[in-house]
Amino acid sequence: MSTTPLHSPPAPQPDQAPPPWASLAPWAAQVPESTSEEVTAAVERARDASIAWGNASFKDRARHLRHLRHALSRQAEEIVSAVVGDTGKIPAEALSGWPDQRCELIAYYERHGERALQPRKVNPGLLMAYKSAEIRYEPLGVVGVISPWNYPLVLSLGPVVTALFAGSTVVLKPSEITPHVGLEVGRIFAELGEDAGKHSGILQVVTGAGAVGEALVRSGVDKIAFTGSVRSGQAVMRAAADTLTPVLLELGGKDPMIVLSDADLERAAHGAVWGAFTNAGQTCMAVERVYVEDPAFDPFLERVLEITSRLRQGTGTGSDLGAITWKRQLEVVLRHLDDALSKGAKILTGGHRVQVGGRESIEPTVLVDVDHSMAVMREETFGPLLPIMRVHSADEALKLANDSSYGLNSSVWGKNPSSIEKIVAGLKAGSVCVNDCMISYAIPGLPFGGIGQSGLGRTHGIEGLREMSQVKSVAKDRLGLSKEPYWMPLPSWNESLARAILRLRHR
Ligand code: NAD
Repeated sequence: MSTTPLHSPPAPQPDQAPPPWASLAPWAAQVPESTSEEVTAAVERARDASIAWGNASFKDRARHLRHLRHALSRQAEEIVSAVVGDTGKIPAEALSGWPDQRCELIAYYERHGERALQPRKVNPGLLMAYKSAEIRYEPLGVVGVISPWNYPLVLSLGPVVTALFAGSTVVLKPSEITPHVGLEVGRIFAELGEDAGKHSGILQVVTGAGAVGEALVRSGVDKIAFTGSVRSGQAVMRAAADTLTPVLLELGGKDPMIVLSDADLERAAHGAVWGAFTNAGQTCMAVERVYVEDPAFDPFLERVLEITSRLRQGTGTGSDLGAITWKRQLEVVLRHLDDALSKGAKILTGGHRVQVGGRESIEPTVLVDVDHSMAVMREETFGPLLPIMRVHSADEALKLANDSSYGLNSSVWGKNPSSIEKIVAGLKAGSVCVNDCMISYAIPGLPFGGIGQSGLGRTHGIEGLREMSQVKSVAKDRLGLSKEPYWMPLPSWNESLARAILRLRHR
């Protein structure tokens, strides 16, 4: 069996028609879809590589992944150019924000991963006091990673390195809209495997759209780590049900921001603008709706408008935000905008369509007079719209914030610790940021994930590493009696002993 990873695009067949997304994302059209045979072969290669990788010590795996971290740092420019080319992000966004965080995640697991995966003794309890018990975290085998286009490097590398630290090998299917980034990741791994002279083939890359993703889900991998939309997540879960393949689902969000009347409004306004417009709003945990207590509403809005008016939308260094990556996403944003305007919302700044580096996009747009009858307050927009709603109390803000099928990230801004704590405790979300937004994702020790339609399971932190492991419970006899008192033939006192224990210990 060959252990050569697929890190260059499969050669297009002469009679192959352009993929269906070619007109929406022309830069991605040159990368053809892997066939189902190629998916199967990639999984087989990863399975072969999983034996040595899974048997390697944690230190050995961590050493290899430390080389990866260094390679990512050395090859940052190549990565940035692939990310910018595939997405239309500004270089600062592609370089300084989230790739750094991936290196931090790797560094975190280098330091803390071994302890997190060490067997853990557990108390065997009174009845089994003469046994020993431990939990082990073992490699799963092969993990299939399916990633989206909005942070193509970060959201591919995150689950990839977590699975690798936990001792599994990986088959990655990047988004069909950002295939070059996935192939670039594959290339870096392949070169690393060749340089290090071992551990080659631990990452395989296949390319294509949903059908290729589904083939991966059905391929017999031991877990699927999926990041993407709710709709595709549901399809993944349905396909995985046939083989009972476990799934980790990191899905969409409609993250609320609550601004209390005593908040530092300068900070809150800057936070709202960054949270809503960074990456042109195409962030799963972007600030998608803001609820501001009445006394703070006007001054907060004034600051938001002033800061937004100074944003520079473009492609190069010196810009604050880039483009909407592709036309399908622009259509969603425009639909939400039209729906809001038709129901009485007002645009206070932005709203115009613009060309950004050859991609059709929209300006950062602030909306008021919004309510929960509008798609912009209920569905994921994933674009640079910032709807701001006036509320009369913190309780009303909390009620509206929780009036959502999503529950990914959230934020509360204020000064009074008890008011803040009430909101933190009441928010139905996987993460809450206080006087900040989105940033919980960048803290490698904090598990990240959603509730409700935002997904299942957690990435990052110790929980993320264990999520990528097979949990094995081991119970050992310590006394070595020739027969346990509850083994057959049962002694005559067995039943009365069971009754006595129930009565004495639990009544
Ligand atoms: P998408 O669901 O369209 O595609 C995501 C990936 O799934 C792609 O690789 C795609 O080819 C694949 N896919 C599509 N249908 C499939 C199927 N039936 N079986 C297997 N794979 C399939 O999502 P997108 O538009 O690429 O990404 C945007 C979405 O991702 C947004 O909803 C965003 O909120 C979400 N997201 C979530 C997180 C998170 O961590 N929770 C992070 C980033 C993005």
